[in-house]
Amino acid sequence: MLDHERISAKLGKFRPSLTLALKHLVAARVAAGLPVHDFGLGETKGDLAPHVREAGEHAFRAGKTMYGDPGGLPEVRQAVLEWLGLQAEYGVDNVVVTAGAKQSLFNTFLAICNPADVVLFDAAPWVSYQPLAVAAYATPIMVLPTAGLANHLKVTPDDLLRNLRMRPHAKLFLLNNPVNPTAQLYTADEVNALLDVCVEHRVYFLLDRLYWRIVFDGVPFPEPRLDERTRPWLIQVDGLSKNFRRTGGLRVGWSIGPTDVTAAMVNLQSHYTAGPAVPTQLAAAAAIGAEYDPELVRDLQAKRDLLHREAAGMPHVTIWPTPASFYSFWDVRQAFGRTTPASEVLRTSDDVATYLIREGGVVTASGSGFMQDGYLRLSFATPDETIRGGMRAAREAMARLT
Ligand code: PLP
Repeated sequence: MLDHERISAKLGKFRPSLTLALKHLVAARVAAGLPVHDFGLGETKGDLAPHVREAGEHAFRAGKTMYGDPGGLPEVRQAVLEWLGLQAEYGVDNVVVTAGAKQSLFNTFLAICNPADVVLFDAAPWVSYQPLAVAAYATPIMVLPTAGLANHLKVTPDDLLRNLRMRPHAKLFLLNNPVNPTAQLYTADEVNALLDVCVEHRVYFLLDRLYWRIVFDGVPFPEPRLDERTRPWLIQVDGLSKNFRRTGGLRVGWSIGPTDVTAAMVNLQSHYTAGPAVPTQLAAAAAIGAEYDPELVRDLQAKRDLLHREAAGMPHVTIWPTPASFYSFWDVRQAFGRTTPASEVLRTSDDVATYLIREGGVVTASGSGFMQDGYLRLSFATPDETIRGGMRAAREAMARLT
């Protein structure tokens, strides 16, 4: 066996993202006693809610550590329906509880795609969509919107139609709403127009709604239309990771979809994970079963406003509006071709991300991870001091470009 054959051709092609390289730069700065302003990680801070912690602790104390149903505990599946307000539309046979939303996405690709089937993503797909689709032997394709930047990279029904006509093997269109990384929010009309196109073409519409509670300015989450026509084609993925504090590591997510697709996913899970850990499922049920505390959303909205105030007029950057999620999306193409104090010319968003760390300790996620060179994503789920200090440092670094 040759060295390069030790790992399968499929996984051997996966590249670690820039995040790892940036981690080394961060570590070097910390070792040198220099400040670091971290906007990289997409995770809320703060304390786990006591009732969630207690539900997990109680599960261990009560010995709830035996195998559960491979599709998730029935009471947790019921809690998911109620959390999404879907108890009148669906039953527990339409829900699968998974180890995070990632596994729900992977389950979906595995359940419905044959080798080489096409899965369509929007124009700035979240980092793991592609690897997950490829690992399921599907072919990921980005739908590029004709309106492009004018519509903040939102896909229209015409864009989707054009792609479906070109690709008869398209099986699924994945929409992430609110969108990570661009922080945009499709309206209910926009979502339903895309859903209609999918239904007409008998293509699944996979809605990743992981940030659905974090919508600002009093705007409600745009729910997809549910009726006899749409139900067979609509699969929704959600989870515990973003809408609560400190819950990403509990690794609980879920999908809601047609009974046949759900049964295929449960069958699959029965052969590999046998369902997520029972104590964390019970902790998740406590989180989603309680009345939702809007404190997190209020706090994140204030942080959004703070970041946008502190970053106003940032040289060489256009900052997109953030109607939802906890990301600020920066167009940094105006920095391309400019020279750093170390006489390096910036040519890509990886260059800009690296420069911001080296020069100011400002950690961002480069758009290259989202197939969009020219952009940076900043998570503002971070302390106010980080936002103030980070924006000051970023402004100073950008001002030093010539
Ligand atoms: N979908 C989107 C858009 C995400 O941002 C993430 C995580 O960052 C996931 C899915 C995966 O979520 P989980 O941590 O629940 O697996």
